[in-house]
Amino acid sequence: MPKIVVLPGDGIGPEIVASAIEVLKVVAPDLEYDEHKFGGASIDAYGEPFTAATQEAVKNADAVLLGSIGGAQDSHWNTLPRHLRPESGLLALRKALGVYANLRPIKVYEGMEHLSPLKPELARGVDVLVVRELLGGVYFDPERWINEMEGFNAMRYKKHEVERIARVAFKAAQGRRNKVTSVDKANVLEVSEFWRREVVRVRESEYSDVALNHEYVDSVAMLLVTNPSRYDVIVTENLFGDILSDLGAVLPGSLGLMPSASLGDGAGLYEPIHGSAPDIAGQGIANPTATILSAALMLRYSLNRPEAADRIDAAILRALNENPTKDLGGSAGTQEFTQTVLQLLKETV
Ligand code: ATP
Ligand code: MG
Repeated sequence: MPKIVVLPGDGIGPEIVASAIEVLKVVAPDLEYDEHKFGGASIDAYGEPFTAATQEAVKNADAVLLGSIGGAQDSHWNTLPRHLRPESGLLALRKALGVYANLRPIKVYEGMEHLSPLKPELARGVDVLVVRELLGGVYFDPERWINEMEGFNAMRYKKHEVERIARVAFKAAQGRRNKVTSVDKANVLEVSEFWRREVVRVRESEYSDVALNHEYVDSVAMLLVTNPSRYDVIVTENLFGDILSDLGAVLPGSLGLMPSASLGDGAGLYEPIHGSAPDIAGQGIANPTATILSAALMLRYSLNRPEAADRIDAAILRALNENPTKDLGGSAGTQEFTQTVLQLLKETV
């Protein structure tokens, strides 16, 4: 039985994670859950955001489902030393899991085009998966300094780093529309030239059935907004991916709709991209969609159950149209929306 470590976290975290688990219990009744306090909730209970017991639990898990962490600006957690704040727990969690690939589906759901900042004809059918390298590149290179005369950081990628992220992208594409766009700046950067060469090599030796093209990051920034339907899977390095995934995140038009997966060689980490929304915590109005869709990603990428993931995606699409939550202009609360999803799932057994 796959073991899922559940970290509800803070703010709306516990509410939206509870919804996701209700949904999982219908489509994958055999999963085992091990719940731990994490982030601010763990600080209040144990004095630290990510205890040794929780670290041990995630190392032995098949997947980790996370709600959200942190509090409002004026939260008492923000008066603690930096290494004892909720956010440092999240960094330590990602590190403990060694997640090197961040996956963010950018999808405009049918009937939800009006939420998108794009014109409806451009928004229709947008379904892109951004795969961002998460542990390398300019953010992490150990060679770095600042002095009176200059600041320095370096973008460096090693063979195995490009290989493993390319594999994630090609594999994901096989479960989608079989097309990968590798994004770089190979016209000016040697590191990009290398990236491109390695991605080509991985495709040729392991994924020759997947179509691959290469585009420059500046061009992709433009095309993601003017012609997003041209993309299936986008794979790119850390800095480019950081920027493109945030650009992409505004296309669906609501934070409450956006799930994410972070994958490494061990357990994957699944969480909504939004924060803990302290302004609406405890009111029962949070939209659980991003977390429920994160649970679907977990079924797809860590548990190898694409049919169960498809069932959730289909039920969410209908629930969004039939009984939308307040942030989407509807009136459903967290529980009512969840009940709609559960009802629709039961109809599609
Ligand atoms: P972070 O905590 O990552 O720094 P943030 O504080 O900028 O992010 P969020 O906590 O995500 O942002 O909240 C931003 C706004 O979006 C808030 O007004 C919040 O209520 C709203 N929001 C976020 N997630 C949801 C959700 N699932 N349902 C409804 N509203 C949400
Ligand atoms: Mg926040």
